[in-house]
Amino acid sequence: MTGLAFSQSSNIMQRVEGEEMFVSDNLSVNEKNHLMIGQNDTVELAREFGTPLYVMDEDLIRKNCRIYKQAIDRYYDGKGLVLYANKAFCSLFTCRIAKEEGLGIDVVSGGELYTAIKADFPMEKVCFHGNNKTLDELELAIRYNVGHIVVDNVYELELLNEVAAKHDKKMKIMFRIKPGVEAHTHSFIKTGQIDSKFGVALENGEAFEIIKRAMSMSNVEVSGLHCHIGSQIFDIEPFCAAAEIMMNFIGDLKDKLELEINELNLGGGYGIMYTEKDDPIEYDKYIEHVSKVVKSVAQKREVKLPFIFMEPGRSIVASAGITLYTVGGVKDIKNVRKYISVDGGMTDNPRYVMYQSEYTAVIANNANAKPCEKVTIAGKCCESGDVLLKDVMMPEIKVGDVLAVLATGAYNYSMSSNYNRIARPAVVAVSQGAAKVVIKRETYEDLIRNDL
Ligand SMILES: *Cc1c(COP(=O)(O)O)cnc(C)c1O
Repeated sequence: MTGLAFSQSSNIMQRVEGEEMFVSDNLSVNEKNHLMIGQNDTVELAREFGTPLYVMDEDLIRKNCRIYKQAIDRYYDGKGLVLYANKAFCSLFTCRIAKEEGLGIDVVSGGELYTAIKADFPMEKVCFHGNNKTLDELELAIRYNVGHIVVDNVYELELLNEVAAKHDKKMKIMFRIKPGVEAHTHSFIKTGQIDSKFGVALENGEAFEIIKRAMSMSNVEVSGLHCHIGSQIFDIEPFCAAAEIMMNFIGDLKDKLELEINELNLGGGYGIMYTEKDDPIEYDKYIEHVSKVVKSVAQKREVKLPFIFMEPGRSIVASAGITLYTVGGVKDIKNVRKYISVDGGMTDNPRYVMYQSEYTAVIANNANAKPCEKVTIAGKCCESGDVLLKDVMMPEIKVGDVLAVLATGAYNYSMSSNYNRIARPAVVAVSQGAAKVVIKRETYEDLIRNDL
């Protein structure tokens, strides 16, 4: 990922390698000046499948899966498993890819678990997260023999033990630990993190107590610890700091409780490039550095090297996805702002509304045009805040243009809604020139299917 830069002539990400500049792996521009993804002309895709349209580059998703997998082989002797964090984009399509690539998955709800079940996902490679799993969700997880349940709190621990007893099962559990490392985009601090709805804290002894309690229960088996320090993180240091704290806690548990922890789940959160301001690290570098920390603390504390899990979500799917829109009204309010409205918005991508997330957009049918004016790309919902990109430099955009918003593969489809009774777009997967619908466009009929 290093060396990604933005071309002077357009908004398309380009990679600098030596002297040569070329458009990044999955995006290019053809002789018609159209944006291409996975060797498909995006203007043709918009024509064939309609807009708004999510397009996912299947080959890039697979490539990202392999980068993580190979990094664990290279830097940790293969003694680990990559879990794709489904919440970034949960579907039969993504579950099947994770399965075929030999990854495990994270699920955070009964619905995500159900999707995995329907995708025939190997249940022993499923890890069930969440800070308030319901009785129904725990029942489903136990019935299907989910590999690991990441226990969040004492209430849940007791409920799980009870339900597992009812089903005559012993469930492997991990504990969600707050390591006290708070990661921000470009820095991190230790402390503060105790104020989080997820997990149990180290510094007040909460984590120690809940583990002691679990050890006395007969239908749960304490197999591991889990932490997840945040998302869209660009630094390696907070991950290393978290790994060090977790390994030391494993040492403490051995010393004080004679408990051997065999598994350590270090979460996800690796940053990706949305705009030229983002400077992501190569994904395998995280594993390279974190592995060293895990090995050195294990030696120092005389504990066994744990089997490690990593949980990338965003970094597996985000850059593989783009969203295509058709441009409608253009409203140039002199000396105020120029609004360009598209046929989607916060219903298919609520990330600007939720976090003021920034994106890069390209005119798909005029991909190499030079940026020349500041515009705001607005959605079609009845909310003034329904914006996709605010005050961005774009080439001149005309009514009827196809606009591509890049890096929308994560937390877009999975966060989409039917607000204003807008139907969800279709998802098309592309691979080596071929395109297939993997999720159908919702119809008006779908919108009223539960209305009585
Ligand atoms: C969201 C989440 C992830 C994935 O985070 P990304 O930033 O998408 O990599 C992993 N683990 C847990 C527990 C999460 O909640």
